[in-house]
Amino acid sequence: MSEAPEIRLGGTPASAGVAIGPAIVVDPQAAVVPDLADPAAAFSEASAAVSRQLESLCETARAAGRSEAGDVLEAQALMAQDPMLADAVATALDGGAGLDAALHQARQQIEELFAAIDDQYIAARAQDVIEVTDRIRRSLAGVEVPDLEQIAEPSVLVARALTAADTAALDPASVLGFATEAGGPTSHVAIIARSLGVAAVVGAAGIVDRTRAGDPVAIDGATGDLIIHPTEATLDDFAARREAFDAAVAAADQFRGISVALGEHQVQVPANVGSRDDVESAVAAAAEGIGLLRTEFLFLDRSDAPSEDEQFDFYAFAGSSFSEPVVIRTFDIGGDKPAPYLSIAPEENPFLGVRGARLYSEFPEVFETQVRAILRAAIDSPICLMLPMVSTVTEIDDLRSRIAEISAGLTASGVRHEMPPIGIMVEVPSVALVADAVAPHVDFFSIGTNDLTQYVMAADRTNSGLDELQDPLHPAVLALCERTVAAARRNGISVSVCGLAAADPLGAAVFAAMGVDKLSVSPRAVNIVKAAVAATDASTADSMVRAALAAATADEARSIIADTTGSP
Ligand code: PEP
Ligand code: MG
Repeated sequence: MSEAPEIRLGGTPASAGVAIGPAIVVDPQAAVVPDLADPAAAFSEASAAVSRQLESLCETARAAGRSEAGDVLEAQALMAQDPMLADAVATALDGGAGLDAALHQARQQIEELFAAIDDQYIAARAQDVIEVTDRIRRSLAGVEVPDLEQIAEPSVLVARALTAADTAALDPASVLGFATEAGGPTSHVAIIARSLGVAAVVGAAGIVDRTRAGDPVAIDGATGDLIIHPTEATLDDFAARREAFDAAVAAADQFRGISVALGEHQVQVPANVGSRDDVESAVAAAAEGIGLLRTEFLFLDRSDAPSEDEQFDFYAFAGSSFSEPVVIRTFDIGGDKPAPYLSIAPEENPFLGVRGARLYSEFPEVFETQVRAILRAAIDSPICLMLPMVSTVTEIDDLRSRIAEISAGLTASGVRHEMPPIGIMVEVPSVALVADAVAPHVDFFSIGTNDLTQYVMAADRTNSGLDELQDPLHPAVLALCERTVAAARRNGISVSVCGLAAADPLGAAVFAAMGVDKLSVSPRAVNIVKAAVAATDASTADSMVRAALAAATADEARSIIADTTGSP
């Protein structure tokens, strides 16, 4: 309990769970570097210290088995001593700037270089250097850099924004949960939080300015409630919520390893994964295969694309972990998942730009390398290949021909491989609208409700101010899902939902009632979703879908589904 008055704030629920603990506040902009006698020497000492600190964080991460976080930290340890940064700071100091201004100028200069990039190698380094510059500033300003890898007491992280790399590096044993001002529920930071199993609230306006390090904080990642200085009554309430959440997880555990059906129709529940750790969590949850392997996480936070062998190892590992299908999605870079070495000229609207499959003709060798790795890994394993962000049949046919050529090339070189089934994400409205015409061109559909919602509702999925418009159970989105499922049925191909809505018990119920074959969700949600499907009444499934489709608003659709399923 705390003496200070309780402050109640709200945000967008991003990852279910309840976290109560002291706050760690990450606010890189708050650091101001004082005037120093020898700024050049201070800068050089601070960058060496930060480099050592990053190296030690890298070792800790690797020792804990978090190899991907280790790779990011290792790259950043090198960047702390990068000549590009040192030169920019030295030039600003020579021009008479103080150290604080010199760091700001250097950062801005690197950002500008980044924006006007035409050299992919420098572009990749720029992003790392920007993050490392902020770390050096905090070190020089005496603002304690929270060592997210070495937090003594389990805590709640409060930040304006976290990058996908920051989030991937979090240790769930010490970070109980986090709240950020930026981000929407389907941003990739939220996706990683769910896969780590940490409670998260995003879009929490004002949280950073109102929280000081060490303040007691309570967050509920299922409701978005966020309390600073909770009273004893609030703590009791949150403890009860935590108990209820733990009880629901334990109850769902009875579905581990059990198949569920709605009436006669079996609904499989595979997992969404992005790393080896996730694959292991999916195996532990007895997920029915992998419905979405987001390969782009392998491409982020590095200076060039992963090699064919590195990719092959990961895909073969995922493929050999299951007897059910393992759906590997080719890289979906762009939007909120930029990789500087895979960017083209800066775009006004990256989510409406050259993203996902649209990027493959710009970087044909990167696509070829990935397809080779997937085709090689597909030997004797249930791997399927999935293309993201396609909008037209022409794109699909072109990419299929390209994949066939790559396969022919492997054959010509005597490389053993297998052609996997090829499917697409249905996440652009144009594809859902003509799904009947698209279906004969693919082996399966997987509905990406995260992007489908953003494009149907014209609401950027990372814009926390547009939450109201981002409900995937809005009847307009449901109508496109239903159209897609019906087209898949008529054309005899399988259809899944792999967006976040599949893990919402109401979403799981309505999609199962529509007749989807699979609901692909984060490993931790697998058994909770099975419980939701098992609880859905097959006799009223049809009428529930009709009524939800006829609703005027998302809230109305939700209450119709909730009334039919008895869910809260
Ligand atoms: C989606 O858009 O729903 C999806 C599953 O893909 P991602 O979230 O990676 O864009
Ligand atoms: Mg998507």
